[in-house]
Amino acid sequence: MALARPGMAVVASPDTPEAWEEAVASLAPSPGGGLGALVPVGGLPDGVTAGVVAEEAGARLLAGCLERRGVPTGALGDARLWAVQAALQRAANGPVAVVGLAGSGPGVLCSTPAPPTAVPEGLGSSAALALAVLGEWVAASGAREVLLAAPRSFCAGVERAIEIVERALERFGPPVYVRRQIVHNQHVVAELEAKGAVFVEEVEEVPPGATVVLAAHGVAPAVREQAEARAGVVVDATCPLVAKVHREARRFAAEGRQVVLVGHADHEEVQGTVGEIEGRVQVVASPEEVAELPFGPEEPLAYLTQTTLALDETAEVLAALRARFPGIVGPSADDICYASQNRQDAVRALARRADLVVVVGSENSSNTARLVEVAQRSGCPAELVEDDGDLDPRWLAGRRRVGVTAGASAPERLVQAVVGALGSLGPLTVREVRTAEEHVRFTLPRKVR
Ligand code: SF4
Repeated sequence: MALARPGMAVVASPDTPEAWEEAVASLAPSPGGGLGALVPVGGLPDGVTAGVVAEEAGARLLAGCLERRGVPTGALGDARLWAVQAALQRAANGPVAVVGLAGSGPGVLCSTPAPPTAVPEGLGSSAALALAVLGEWVAASGAREVLLAAPRSFCAGVERAIEIVERALERFGPPVYVRRQIVHNQHVVAELEAKGAVFVEEVEEVPPGATVVLAAHGVAPAVREQAEARAGVVVDATCPLVAKVHREARRFAAEGRQVVLVGHADHEEVQGTVGEIEGRVQVVASPEEVAELPFGPEEPLAYLTQTTLALDETAEVLAALRARFPGIVGPSADDICYASQNRQDAVRALARRADLVVVVGSENSSNTARLVEVAQRSGCPAELVEDDGDLDPRWLAGRRRVGVTAGASAPERLVQAVVGALGSLGPLTVREVRTAEEHVRFTLPRKVR
């Protein structure tokens, strides 16, 4: 065994557990007690360059990091890796991870974050990347406190939409066609696909006479009519709070008003609301866009808002609207829904206390994206993850108090998986920070009740 640098040792005989124990004794311990080992292995399956042996959640976290750096991972059945892990665990004060990497020659042990400048010969071209990832993982190791936002995760509209698809599958049998993602979350979509749901972009893709569910974000009347004309059964999963905005839009248009809809023009919810009053609506997303609206001071105007916007940003746009058009009318309160408001309040409370906020949800989920922005505007770094595999140890080094929340379309089990991944880096205490209680439930459409 030769010492390469204070926190990194080259292990010339990687097949002997004693050599690894000796290497541990030669290294300065990492601040969080973590140890990472890179072990050359042969006979990997086609397309696999590396495999991770660690406590389960830690293995997923490391495999995700390796994949994102272009090192394809897979399951490895090499018993030597488990022997190395057992040897390291006997000698370590913290979590241990072993990466088996295609190649032959020496192994490498890391106890510090510094990426290696020289990679031992024989370890293959991915070794530098794998060692950098292991170094980052070691740097992120250590005890942490997790602050869990409450409320977080599913809202009543998302629970209702998922239940509608599940009940439609039971009542009408698979396949049930769903126009667009039922809610904006890849995991929810994959789970429903496994049960027999088929997701399509447009109604024309649905076989005539089939069962169709329209997604929670709402659709324009033209889409609903198209679905009614083509499908045998149409079940509308539009959230009742989105349907309320549609009703308000129709009422304002019937009063002869032009409607300014505050929201993101490319979002499905906004497209559905625009479709309700085509030709009588302008979409704006910022005070600058308010300044460009083509209306004169006498034009009868009303405003509406997308349900999932950030409260603070929307307040700025509404202030600009009222300043430019003092006669503009709107709903009794803005249309930002209870779930978006509560999750934003909760993430703000986390941001005041945490070193980092992790938001679980899909990139195309509007309310989830707003949670990241609200945390960042509150002065706390915030990162979006689809699931625990997206966690990056580089975010975590030196950050001992991590806030975790989830958008309204992200399942709670993904939050628990993220907490599990954080726990794989060292001892964890978990505390909930509750800012509101939620008891909202929506009734199901008659066709699936
Ligand atoms: S986020 Fe709000 S508007 Fe959207 S589905 Fe949930 S409750 Fe309904």
